[in-house]
Amino acid sequence: EEFCKMLPKVELHAHINGSVSESTIEKLVATKQKLDHQFSFKKGSTATLKECFEKFRLIHQLTDNVDAVYQVTYDVIQEFCDDNVRYLELRSTPREVTETGMTKELYVDAVLRAIRDCEAENLDIEVKLLLAIDRRNGVQVGQDTVKLAQKFRESHPDLVVGIDLSGDPSVGDGRDFIPVFKEAKDFGLKLALHLCEVPALQETMDLLCLPPDRIGHGTCLHPEAGGTQEFVDTVLTHKTPLELCLTSNLIGQTVPDLDNHQFKFWYEKQHPCIICTDDKGVFSTSLTEEYQLAAVTFDLSPNDLWRLSLDSMNYAFCEEHLKEKLREKWKAAKPGME
Ligand code: 5GP
Repeated sequence: EEFCKMLPKVELHAHINGSVSESTIEKLVATKQKLDHQFSFKKGSTATLKECFEKFRLIHQLTDNVDAVYQVTYDVIQEFCDDNVRYLELRSTPREVTETGMTKELYVDAVLRAIRDCEAENLDIEVKLLLAIDRRNGVQVGQDTVKLAQKFRESHPDLVVGIDLSGDPSVGDGRDFIPVFKEAKDFGLKLALHLCEVPALQETMDLLCLPPDRIGHGTCLHPEAGGTQEFVDTVLTHKTPLELCLTSNLIGQTVPDLDNHQFKFWYEKQHPCIICTDDKGVFSTSLTEEYQLAAVTFDLSPNDLWRLSLDSMNYAFCEEHLKEKLREKWKAAKPGME
């Protein structure tokens, strides 16, 4: 509804290549002539996680050069801003493509240029970047990603804020990356890790004990979803915030239906929950729609939604003074204040 659209919002879990809108895809396809794939899932459809990752592979074929990476990042920021997102953390996996001469450094450089150019336009949005480690690519690549993040943090200390762990959760063992995460942490980079998207009893406890600064999804942490009470207690003890993406989990079928989404479990415990889109392009959604969906599914009032979005600012990976400045924007939007 109108309220969710007008509400200032905070997006903390958005993969750049999964956030690409249809209109940006059309621009990119036009530069490539062929390709008639379907890049996103229609509303209400379901898929397997494997099919979700197939979409990312298709999009990656379009974003195989620095101009496309720049364009995608630039458009994604504009679209989040149009949706009244006032603070945005993007995450992306640095990629190299030999044929186009794109190195991982040029990839990150293109993303950062797009962020800077949006900044120069004085858009009403603050943007930060996390570099993502794709677990499919192994520990050495993870190590290189942290090095790259350290390097770019030196040149852009206000923009490069953290490290993400993502990629197909059924591949590899997250524990292998622990030394890499510790190094990132020592360097002042924050950790946002995809954890327990699918039941993962082996790696979860060790990763939870790092502890990460935020958890992506955490779909199967609680006993009813295949997790354990110990996982739950650890998350509660550390007060580790959860980034929750309703539509993504529904389409990807990591939850049976929304009534059984983990949001309910954690929200009832008054645990920090952040509503996010994950991949607004691939899952044909927006942060406004995710708030609406949460409102309808979990019977949240405008005041509850306002509180959720304002509280999300607490878990952002940015300086306290920026949080304080941004919180001002919520005052005028408080239900009953208009
Ligand atoms: P990129 O990092 O290329 O900007 O965005 C796409 C990538 O994000 C995918 O290849 C995948 O590694 C990661 N990703 C996007 N959505 C999800 C998700 O729901 N779960 C996991 N584990 N990874 C995801």
